[in-house]
Amino acid sequence: MRWAGSSTRGRVAVEGRLCAHPGCSGVAGATMTYDYGSRTAWVDDLFEVPSPAGYDLCDPHTVAFSVPQGWTRRDRRGETDDTATEDDALVSAP
Ligand SMILES: [Zn+2]
Repeated sequence: MRWAGSSTRGRVAVEGRLCAHPGCSGVAGATMTYDYGSRTAWVDDLFEVPSPAGYDLCDPHTVAFSVPQGWTRRDRRGETDDTATEDDALVSAP
């Protein structure tokens, strides 16, 4: 791990990345990835490491981002553990 200079921060060193939208100089706050096979696009918290398959987007462009017709958009921000939530639902069922 080489997060030089980030030891005083609570978050990893992902600050300073800019929105990938053409002409936009906003600071990226989320990363969008997509899969053509399943026609699904995901919005996640900004990846710690820039992904060649991901697009970093600023907040306004994250909100404005829409998927083509027939595609599913999934916003996974704030979902700390998707599978755990499903497990909890099963456990709490009568
Ligand atoms: Zn932007």
